[in-house]
Amino acid sequence: MIIMKFGGTSTQDANAIQNVVQIVSSKLAQKPIVVISAIAQATNMLEQAGKLAAEGKAGEARDTLLKLFDRHYAIVDEIIRDRERHIELRKTIVTALHELEQLITGVSILRELTPRTLDAFCCYGELLSSRMVAAALEEQGIAAIWIDTKDFMVTDENFNRAMPLMEIVEERLTSIVPPLIEQGKTPVTQGFIGITRSGIRTTMGRESSDYSASIVGTALNAEDIQIWTDVDGVLTADPQVVISPKKIKSLTFEEAFDLSYFGAKVLHPNTMLPALEKKIPIHIYNSRRPELSGTLVTADTHSEEKVIKSVAYKRGMIVLTITPKKRYSQSIFWEHIYTILTRHDVVATMTATSEYSIAIALDGKNNISAIVHELGEIGLVQVLEHKGIVCVVGTNLRETSQLMERIFRSLSEFNVSAVSFGASKSSVAIVLDDAVVLDAVGKLHREFFETVHDEEKFEMLEHFHAQT
Ligand code: ADP
Ligand code: ASP
Ligand code: MG
Repeated sequence: MIIMKFGGTSTQDANAIQNVVQIVSSKLAQKPIVVISAIAQATNMLEQAGKLAAEGKAGEARDTLLKLFDRHYAIVDEIIRDRERHIELRKTIVTALHELEQLITGVSILRELTPRTLDAFCCYGELLSSRMVAAALEEQGIAAIWIDTKDFMVTDENFNRAMPLMEIVEERLTSIVPPLIEQGKTPVTQGFIGITRSGIRTTMGRESSDYSASIVGTALNAEDIQIWTDVDGVLTADPQVVISPKKIKSLTFEEAFDLSYFGAKVLHPNTMLPALEKKIPIHIYNSRRPELSGTLVTADTHSEEKVIKSVAYKRGMIVLTITPKKRYSQSIFWEHIYTILTRHDVVATMTATSEYSIAIALDGKNNISAIVHELGEIGLVQVLEHKGIVCVVGTNLRETSQLMERIFRSLSEFNVSAVSFGASKSSVAIVLDDAVVLDAVGKLHREFFETVHDEEKFEMLEHFHAQT
C-alpha cells in the first residue's frame, strides 16, 4: 500500500488532473490511496470569500466564489464524458456552491468570521477537487472510491490548525481501507481537512495536505508516502530565489523537518512527525516529470558524514529580546516567558539565550502588541521588527569544521541579530533584517553549493524552469 498526495498545482486544471490519472494508473500494482489538495488558489479564494462576507461585502464574496466554481465546472466539462457521472458531479458542485452561499449570507449578517466558520468555508476546496479526481479516475476505468475525511480524520477542536486524534484515525482507517483495497478499489480522499468528534469540519493548517498524507500513511502502515508536487524534489534552495538549485537525493526526517520548519514550502513541517514514528519513507516527486527519481526522506542512518544539504528562509519575523526587571532565578524567568507565549498560543520559531536575556523570533502575524504588553510586566522588552531567518540544513552540522566561519563570511555585509546553533544537529538558524534575507540565501547557496559536484548526494536540474 502506498499513499500518493497531489498538491494544488498538480490538480489545477483538466490537463493536470488527467496527468494525475496517468500517474495513479501507473502505480495501481502498489495499491495507492490518493490524497488530494484543493485546486491551486482555491483555499485562498475560499478564505477571501469568507473575509469579504465578514466585511459585509456579500456580493464580492459571491463573485469570488463564482470565479472559483467556474474553474471547477470547466474541469468537469473537459474531463468527464460519461453522462451520468457528469450530471452527478455537476450536482455535487452546485450543492457545494449553495451551501457556501448560505455561509456567505450568515457571515455577512453577523459580520464575524470565526476560526470554525473559516474552516467551514475552506473545506470545500478539497471536498470538490477529490471528487473530481475520483471521477476522472473512474472515467479511465479505474475503480476509484471517494472517501470523505469525515469518516476517519477525527481531530481536536483547534479550528484552523487542528491536530488528529491518532488512535481514532487509525482505528477508523484500518477498518475502512483494507477491505476496499482487497476489492481492488483505489480510495481517493482529501488532504487538509478533518472533523471534530461532534462532526464539525476542521482544517489542520495551511499547506497541511502533506501532513494528511503522512497521517493516513502512518495509520495504515503504508510502504511509502509520496508527495507529488511541481518541483523535481527537495532542492538546495527555493527555486524562486536561487537561479540554479540542485536536487537533493535524500534527507533525514530531522533535516526535512528543519528545512520545512524554517520555510521550505515543499513539505509541511508536520509531515515528518507521524512518518518518523513508524519510519515510513517519504518521497517527493514531480508530477510533471514522473519518471524522475525525486527526493527520499528517511530515517537517520547515524552515519558520520557531514554534508550541507540546503538553505531555507522565513520572512516577516519579529524578534523580542527580554531582560528581567528584577533578579529572578533563571528558571522562573524563562517559565514566565513560556507561560505568556503559551497563553497567546504563540510558537517561538527560534530562541537564543544568554545567562539572563533571551531573544525570541516570532512570526510577525502573531498579536505582538498583546504579547509585548504582558512580557513587559516581567522584563524590559525590545522589539526588533522586519526580521527574517536564514537556515542552513545538513547532516552532523555540529561537527562540520569551518561551518560558522563560512556562514559568517558569506553574510559579512549584513547585520546578524541572533544565531541558533547546537540545539539541532541538522540546522543553524540566523536572524537578519528581512530586507536582506533573499540576498543572504543567494550568498549562502553560492558558498555551499555552486562548486559542489557531489553526484552521490545532489543532482543537477536539467530541465529547470524558474518560476518568477
Ligand atoms: P503543492 O501545491 O504541491 O503542495 P507547494 O507550492 O506547497 O506545492 O510546494 C512546492 C513549492 O515549494 C515549489 O514550487 C517551490 O517553489 C517551493 N520551495 C521552497 N523551497 C523549496 C526547496 N528547498 N525545494 C523545493 N521546493 C521549494
Ligand atoms: N489547500 C490547502 C492550502 O492551500 C492545503 C494544501 O494545499 O496543502 O493551504
Ligand atoms: Mg504544499
